[in-house]
Amino acid sequence: MSKVKKKVKVIKIDVDKCNGCRACELICSAFHATPKYSSNNPERSRIRMVREPLRDVYLPVYAGEYTAAECMGRDKFVIDGKEYDECDFCRASCPSRTLFKEPDSGLPLKCDMCEDDPPQEKPLCVQWCLNDALTYEEREEEVEEEVKLEDLEIGLGSMVDKYGLQKVMDTVARMSKKE
Ligand code: SF4
Ligand code: SF4
Repeated sequence: MSKVKKKVKVIKIDVDKCNGCRACELICSAFHATPKYSSNNPERSRIRMVREPLRDVYLPVYAGEYTAAECMGRDKFVIDGKEYDECDFCRASCPSRTLFKEPDSGLPLKCDMCEDDPPQEKPLCVQWCLNDALTYEEREEEVEEEVKLEDLEIGLGSMVDKYGLQKVMDTVARMSKKE
């Protein structure tokens, strides 16, 4: 496989600075609304807070890859005297929870770093985090060239996992007849 230069976008999370205000969830869901900024709903956000004020736990987590199967891990982590579940840190849209799924369709959500035209100066959740709990960095890395799945393929894959290939194909065939 050949090597290519890739711009890597990183959002660093400083958990100690987060106060759980949820501005990041608000702006992310508004940015991804159709039309843009027409509504907001944290359930549609690509960043979610693990938020337990009584235990002083505020942990922002970004939506990552979709996974068809849940993992076996259910370990607990104690960091600075606070207990976290393994799933708290997980970025996957996974069958064992509702996190990172579009509430109407059940399709997986994934952070797209606020892709926009013209590009945003920084991801919007970073811009809206007034406590600097989120900071943005870009760097170049040499990586092996990979075949990247389009959002549509990821969405279709999750529908196939949920309903089976035949049902999805029948539905598409029925829809194409209506057009
Ligand atoms: S970078 Fe953009 S898409 Fe990703 S979580 Fe932040 S606001 Fe949402
Ligand atoms: S905007 Fe910043 S401080 Fe507010 S919940 Fe999100 S990460 Fe935490």
